[in-house]
Amino acid sequence: MVCTGSKRCLAIAPHAFWFDDRSYVSGVSGGPFSDDEDIVVAAESCPVGAITVVDEESGAQVVP
Ligand code: SF4
Repeated sequence: MVCTGSKRCLAIAPHAFWFDDRSYVSGVSGGPFSDDEDIVVAAESCPVGAITVVDEESGAQVVP
């Protein structure tokens, strides 16, 4: 899915997401986020499922 610019992720994890000029998520900054539960909560809160979280060790998709 494609970001629709709701900024829910930014409200939950402002340290991780950054936005382009049109206010759509354009990428993540920092990381790795292996111990950062806010990233998972932010991904779960995305209304369009635009954020994918993958377990770095297993490769398993955690969200969505
Ligand atoms: S990635 Fe999802 S939660 Fe974040 S701004 Fe885009 S639509 Fe909203």
